[in-house]
Amino acid sequence: MSDASARRSMDRNEQHRIVSGAPYDEDVQIEASVRPKRLDEYIGQKRVKENISIAIEAARSRGEALDHVLLYGPPGLGKTTLAQIIANELQVPIKTSAGPLLERKGDLTAILTSLEGKEVFFLDEIHRLQPAVEEVLYPAMEDFRVDLIIGQGPGARIHPFQLGHFTLIGATTRAGLITAPLRSRFGIVHRLDFYEPEDLLIIIHRSAKILNILMDDGGAEEIARRCRGTPRIANRLLRRSRDFAEVRAAGRITRAVAQEALAMLGVDESGLDEVDRNLMLALLDKYGGGPVGLGTLAAALSEEEDAIEEIYEPYLMQIGLIDRTQRGRVATARAYEYFGKELPKRQPRLF
Ligand code: ADP
Repeated sequence: MSDASARRSMDRNEQHRIVSGAPYDEDVQIEASVRPKRLDEYIGQKRVKENISIAIEAARSRGEALDHVLLYGPPGLGKTTLAQIIANELQVPIKTSAGPLLERKGDLTAILTSLEGKEVFFLDEIHRLQPAVEEVLYPAMEDFRVDLIIGQGPGARIHPFQLGHFTLIGATTRAGLITAPLRSRFGIVHRLDFYEPEDLLIIIHRSAKILNILMDDGGAEEIARRCRGTPRIANRLLRRSRDFAEVRAAGRITRAVAQEALAMLGVDESGLDEVDRNLMLALLDKYGGGPVGLGTLAAALSEEEDAIEEIYEPYLMQIGLIDRTQRGRVATARAYEYFGKELPKRQPRLF
């Protein structure tokens, strides 16, 4: 299966998940209203925020463009939001594209040559650039230059074209797939982590206020617990809980309302859904807790390897249910406990 069709199939599977960090069509409109616009509205990610704030301040005071920035981490954690905030704070325009959209060198060259001054260019899914297209980025990032080819055949000439001092902000869910030459051209590299419960509470209350949703602290806590540390999922669970509250509970999201609404959607108290449970149960029951290779696990679940590695696993690892080892994936002692299963005696001493 080609990369693009694998991606489409992964996107299709993801569309059915309420706890997917990837955006749904309905998220796109709502997100525009709740997306923070300034750095001080961007909740959590303290270390990243501080570093970016200092870099912006320094670039501003020197009158220079900000160094190129690479942001990585699972979907829905705020990479696009942060890129837009950086452009806002720098008071420069932003142009946006994504790796899979740039099929030919000319697609990227056209964008680069259209950038004005110290504009920000946000390139999402940067790990999915074609190698030939990626090569256009190297001189563009380093020397602010693209080589235009004028004419055809033996008479063709290379004409260097000087670009403005733009800032490239690359985003990826798969830092490991970024090539070394590309990575080395980013001066500022940050990983976004899953959010802490207290930050999620602030995000959920803020969104509820903007969207005029009635909710008490218990309701917010329940959503925070089940949103997999991911703001996009938090906002989505908030909207689904509101629907439920309006139809069944006089419009107010209380703890009991959120619990009932989210249980009905198949989201358990740690934010696991059916796909996670199937994955964990396959690992525990079918493969005796592992180690099992990613390919085997993917085949057993009829899922794409990419989807498992990029979307399901990071959170399952974060809450300590699964471990990646050299020999494959293993279930932790906590996973046995979580699913009410007895830890086998001959379990390797991995934890
Ligand atoms: P990514 O690009 O990493 O997939 P986004 O930047 O699109 O994620 O974030 C998804 C949504 O989550 C945003 O529209 C925004 O409403 C919310 N969000 C993300 N990060 C934050 C944050 N730090 N504070 C508040 N809301 C956030």
